[in-house]
Amino acid sequence: MTWLDLPADHPFGLGNLPYGVFSTEADPERRVGVRVGDLVLDLARAAAAAGYPSGGAWSAPSLNPFLAQGPDAWSSGRAWLTEVLTDAAYRGVVERHLHPLGQVTLHLPIVVGDYVDYYASAHHAANVGKIFRPDSPALPVNWKHLPIGYHGRSGTVVVSGTDFHRPSGQRKGPQDPAPVFGPSIRLDIEAELGFVVGGATAMGERVSVDGSAAHLFGVVVLNDWSARDIQAWEYVPLGPYLGKSFATSISAWVTPMAALQAARIDLPREEGDPEVLPYLRGTGTGATGSGGTAAGLDVHLEVAVNGTVVTRPEYRGMYWSPAQMLAHMTVNGASLRDGDLFGSGTISGPSPRERGSFLELSWGGTEPFALADGTIRTYLEDGDEVVVTAWAPGLDGSRIGLGEVAGRVLPTT
Ligand code: MN
Repeated sequence: MTWLDLPADHPFGLGNLPYGVFSTEADPERRVGVRVGDLVLDLARAAAAAGYPSGGAWSAPSLNPFLAQGPDAWSSGRAWLTEVLTDAAYRGVVERHLHPLGQVTLHLPIVVGDYVDYYASAHHAANVGKIFRPDSPALPVNWKHLPIGYHGRSGTVVVSGTDFHRPSGQRKGPQDPAPVFGPSIRLDIEAELGFVVGGATAMGERVSVDGSAAHLFGVVVLNDWSARDIQAWEYVPLGPYLGKSFATSISAWVTPMAALQAARIDLPREEGDPEVLPYLRGTGTGATGSGGTAAGLDVHLEVAVNGTVVTRPEYRGMYWSPAQMLAHMTVNGASLRDGDLFGSGTISGPSPRERGSFLELSWGGTEPFALADGTIRTYLEDGDEVVVTAWAPGLDGSRIGLGEVAGRVLPTT
């Protein structure tokens, strides 16, 4: 029970406690806050007032110093927060450091280290295969043996609410005699989750599936804006580049992995799926490495375009788990930095209304769909606003809100 006036079923209750970076009009200095209900707690100040000695990292303008402290600091911080928000004896010193959510400005929560994006949905990968490569097998031959990814551009990761200009670039359709340059005409979304990493490692060090919990700090909702026409022309043979690097949006709130314990589920595996190599297996898992420390997550997403919900992807169908993706990322000895971010890849399910991109929703542009205002879409128009929201099951039937990631397409520059 909390001394806050907070309904027990609030999606930002004490079981959640996501971290972000905020400022206020009265104090424009950026600092770390935690969302509880519709309030934001100024953590460093509350820690100082309540005599918590480890709150110094929270006065930073990003979560990175806190991420650097590692898993013991993350769990002590969470335990302290739970205590001061539960024990009424702290109310007097803590309450004055709470700000109404509507009166704060939220900023990018992390200084993004390296950014990687994966491709972990079999339904998405198969759909893209059928659309882009109809004469080849839907899934590449390596797909069930390793989580496929590419390195993205960390400098263009932006916080929810940041609008961006339609990118320009080269494109060449199959019928075009030569490439042309201009604004993308196939601008798309990718509804994903992103995982925030802490506890830097040295080059040569590997993080195992079992060891990943010490480095996986939390989850953001992520929109990997994608220019399909630029991507289709540039991606062979080295993968996505300018079709992706112009903007990637993340939610302002980072939900700790500790808040998602009730959302852990076995990965989907079918008869005939290959056994993964030992480094991609956790302990307590079956032969295909589908549970235990390699568990997946039961997270529900919703994508709205100008207020119309166009799809509801389910994260539970993702083939590779966050722990496996982290283990794969470091198996060659690549080091981790505090603030590293990796995306899951577009989340798509088996049915048409669980597809996490316009590419799939419009089946390569051949099946337009309608919004509530009567307009139709194949890809994004200038002025379109996309909002991706997500939630997960919490303890005792509660919901853990993962917040939202919003962004609007501005005309090309
Ligand atoms: Mn992506």
